[in-house]
Amino acid sequence: MLENERLHEKYAIDKLVGNGSFSIVYRATERSCDRLVAIKALRREVYDSTSHQYADSEVCAMGRLWSHPNIVSVHTVEPGDDDYIAFIVMEYVDGGSLRRQLQTGPLPVKNALAYAYDICTSLAYAHAEKVIHRDVKPRNVLLTSSQVAKVSDFGVAQVRDVHHDYASTFAGTRRYMAPEQYEEKYDHRVDIYAAGILLWEMATGEYPFMAGTQDLIRRAKDTEPEPPTWLPEPVRAILRNSLRTDPFERFRDMEEMCDALQQTLMSSYERAVVDSLSAGSRDDLPTDPLEPLRDALRIPKAAAMCIERCAFQQRQAENRELEAARAEELAEELARSLMEHVRHDDAPRVANALKQMREADIAPQPVLELVRALWRQVSGPSYTPIVVPPAPRRATDAVGLASGEEDTGTALGDDPDDESTALRLKAKGKQHELDSKWRRARSMYRRSAKAYDRKAQAEAREGVSAKTARLYQSAGECFGLAGDTRHSHASYTQAASCWIDRAGQYRDAEKWEHAAEAHRFAARAYDQAERKEEAETEYLAAADLLYRRARNAYERHAYEDAAELCQRAVRLASGSSRWRMAEEVRHLLHAARNAWS
Ligand code: ATP
Repeated sequence: MLENERLHEKYAIDKLVGNGSFSIVYRATERSCDRLVAIKALRREVYDSTSHQYADSEVCAMGRLWSHPNIVSVHTVEPGDDDYIAFIVMEYVDGGSLRRQLQTGPLPVKNALAYAYDICTSLAYAHAEKVIHRDVKPRNVLLTSSQVAKVSDFGVAQVRDVHHDYASTFAGTRRYMAPEQYEEKYDHRVDIYAAGILLWEMATGEYPFMAGTQDLIRRAKDTEPEPPTWLPEPVRAILRNSLRTDPFERFRDMEEMCDALQQTLMSSYERAVVDSLSAGSRDDLPTDPLEPLRDALRIPKAAAMCIERCAFQQRQAENRELEAARAEELAEELARSLMEHVRHDDAPRVANALKQMREADIAPQPVLELVRALWRQVSGPSYTPIVVPPAPRRATDAVGLASGEEDTGTALGDDPDDESTALRLKAKGKQHELDSKWRRARSMYRRSAKAYDRKAQAEAREGVSAKTARLYQSAGECFGLAGDTRHSHASYTQAASCWIDRAGQYRDAEKWEHAAEAHRFAARAYDQAERKEEAETEYLAAADLLYRRARNAYERHAYEDAAELCQRAVRLASGSSRWRMAEEVRHLLHAARNAWS
């Protein structure tokens, strides 16, 4: 056939696309509908009479698999002539083969994952139709100009109940064969192995079993290759699990490999969303620039929206925390100057400071109460300024500070309100810190910590509450600022056990999400106390409770909530090898996303 010729008057041959071992491929236009097609002409001279079944096998396999977006679909088969035994008319794929793409070097890892996902979903579909490809290789993967991979050439596919052994035709393609494929018995897992090699080549630009001869390559496959350390760990895990020498140790099936690829693509998308939130406005979700990335990473729209919303909500929560911390800092600053003005009986400045605090409405509770009381006095008709005398300098203070030792703060219990004293001392510590008077600052922090601790103990006697836990946390923070790590850890540990008690109370009241939150706080307190193992236990307890809620939501068909709860659980337990529920949560997340989309 020549360019510009016609085939059966139905197709106008446009150009030669390429030559394969058994065929020649042309681009043509189907005249009746002006459709671009690829025509694969099966050369008569290379088929002996016994291997005609080879062509039948390809047509039979591709005919079955016509409706998958990642499989090159066959439109029809036209009868042959003197030179060709048949003409397979197929969808024309306009971006060349993966082989040609690989000649230009490795792909960015996320593109490699996306192509691998395309290839694996198509093979999972073929396996479900009882078709094993058996010859997955870069030449048999075609790319579209919009960067989608399509698997072609099911010429040596094994179709259920029709077994042709065309192993001898593998001469040029042994590079991608699984170790067991050199022998008689193998199954769908040979395609998993080949897909693993393809992913390796796409991500690294190198073939994992490089050796001089086919025999050496075969022997190299007896040893499992170790993926390069610069690849992200989830990608390395996928490569390891697809390239196990023993097929029973590989991914169980193509579905499982697809899941692993999808999880990795989702995490990559999640990271990109988080980054775009950091880069962009703090209140807006910049969805538009992410849209091309969604497609590039094969993220379904509903799942992408779920990821975006979770990331956005988390960012908002972080912003709120940040703002609360800033507000607290400002409140302490204002409270400190307020005390100063009161002490100097400077009425206009007191009034001004109070006004600022009232306007900001940001003071912590004890200061706020103090402010309100003072405000009533300052603005009332019988205004008598309160004069707070400077704290009496005790002998121990002077001696301790002069000799470089730290104040023990033992007299603090005399103060009627340990909490506001603690706050005042903390503010003083901050001031000293700003003035670079470190020794004094540390002394103030230590005294502040002790006051918090005393108050926490008093609260605990009334029964454990969130407030007790927070007071212990503040004590831990101030001990830390004072450089007293031992006491800081002890206070944080106390805080953690208060949160655990709270979690128990919430569990009893069947408030599961509250309980999860309390476990999370406990974990954070343990983190501060550098008790990593206990912290992990608490994170896991929180994750388990969220999973329980997710299951519940799933059963109520609240799939969106279920997916979100699963994601929160995964985030809490990420990095823990002790999490027994990891597998279940992954499945539930997957199911919830699918059900939702
Ligand atoms: P072998 O037959 O040895 O496995 P091969 O897979 O390259 O080699 P063919 O499938 O005959 O052989 O393909 C020949 C050429 O035609 C290749 O360059 C391939 O990229 C291209 N090609 C095959 N099918 C299509 C198609 N549907 N659309 C566009 N190009 C195609």
